Amino acid sequence: MAGEDAFQYRDGELFCEEVPARRIAEQYSTPCYVYSARSFVTRYRRIRDAFAACDPLVCFSMKSCGNLSVLKLLAGAGSGFDVASGGELYKVLLAGADARKTVFAGVGKTSGEIEYALKQRIFMFNVESRAELACINDVASRLGERATVAIRVNPDVEPHTHEKIATGKAEAKFGIDIGQTEDLVADAADWAGTDIRGVHFHLGSLISSVEPYVAALAKIVGLIERLRSAGCNVDRLNIGGGFCVSYTGEEVTSAEEYAAAVQTYLEKSDCKVIIEPGRYIAGNSGLLLTRVIYRKETESGKRFAVCDAAMTDLIRPTLYGSFHRIWPVRSEAGLPEVVRPGKNPVGAASAEVVDVVGGVCETGDFLAKDRALPPLKEGELLAVFDAGAYGFAMSSNYNARPRAAEVLVEGGECRLVRRRETYEGLVRLEKEFL
Ligand SMILES: *Cc1c(COP(=O)(O)O)cnc(C)c1O
Repeated sequence: MAGEDAFQYRDGELFCEEVPARRIAEQYSTPCYVYSARSFVTRYRRIRDAFAACDPLVCFSMKSCGNLSVLKLLAGAGSGFDVASGGELYKVLLAGADARKTVFAGVGKTSGEIEYALKQRIFMFNVESRAELACINDVASRLGERATVAIRVNPDVEPHTHEKIATGKAEAKFGIDIGQTEDLVADAADWAGTDIRGVHFHLGSLISSVEPYVAALAKIVGLIERLRSAGCNVDRLNIGGGFCVSYTGEEVTSAEEYAAAVQTYLEKSDCKVIIEPGRYIAGNSGLLLTRVIYRKETESGKRFAVCDAAMTDLIRPTLYGSFHRIWPVRSEAGLPEVVRPGKNPVGAASAEVVDVVGGVCETGDFLAKDRALPPLKEGELLAVFDAGAYGFAMSSNYNARPRAAEVLVEGGECRLVRRRETYEGLVRLEKEFL
């Protein structure tokens, strides 16, 4: 199973490492995110080792899973971080990250965020526009600092992923066109407070094949050569994240395959290589536990399992049409090895086709549609698998729903790493103004 075997059925019970999922639900209630420390660290090491030939700086993209204890765990394993805001920088530093292993991307960095990051002496900024470079240059000059930047280039390649998570096509808001990058560097005199040392690209998320990386690098390596000829000392190449994970149990492109496909380009670039995996490390390393509150059936025979987790806890299904395997925590046969959209893994006789939904006042509030599952009982515990990335991180308080608890498992130990939010917490910032 995915998650480097961190989540497994034993004698009909789901375990996270050595801890029964049922025990976690009883102790911390539901909905509850459960993370495997072993899986996070194993996946971090695996992608680092896959790229070992170029000794990369691995910067975990913390927007995928930003729990402080998870960040601390990865910082302890040697990971650097990719942050997308001042708030994310604050969190990784609080968790013990080394600022010198932190990169900062995003199209809308404010001068306040830039000043904060400069003062913390981060590794580099990934700059997304000429206007932003001018701002970084101004702030650095004012502070008497020098900013180190990589130009985030938009290589205009088709990543073959969901349109909302494709970031490297010409029409996306991200990065700077290749031609404009050369113009920018030609105006070096304008950037006296800034060292332009790198080229960065990030193609998007959940990129299922090596081709988009190869296509991008073919363009980028040529660009680096031209920038050097123009007198710009480029010595850092950041190839972003986007490495896929399996949501069905099927094999997907491995870290080793990505690394092998781009190896010659990375060597040719003669740069320090940076990679920014988010989902690759977090995706299979967590699941969401939820309880079925009610069953209901319409006149026409449509069935619903109404759960205590909702789109506010996991928005991926309704935002991206994403597929997550969902299965009862107690199951004699365990989770089928592969569960694909539209396929019945149960066997026609015993399956029941249901929409797994939450309690939010939106028709778009679902975790799964038309899903064949063993017949569910009210009160039954379900696991929503592969929810470690962009799960809790994208949760909200819509409908005044307190956010879920987060639990980290290490071997036979499990501990709370984020309390379930309370009603009081929901009004904390408003109550004083009544
Ligand atoms: C989101 C993001 C990543 C991580 O993407 P994954 O698909 O989670 O690996 C890496 N780099 C940048 C700049 C990002 O915005």
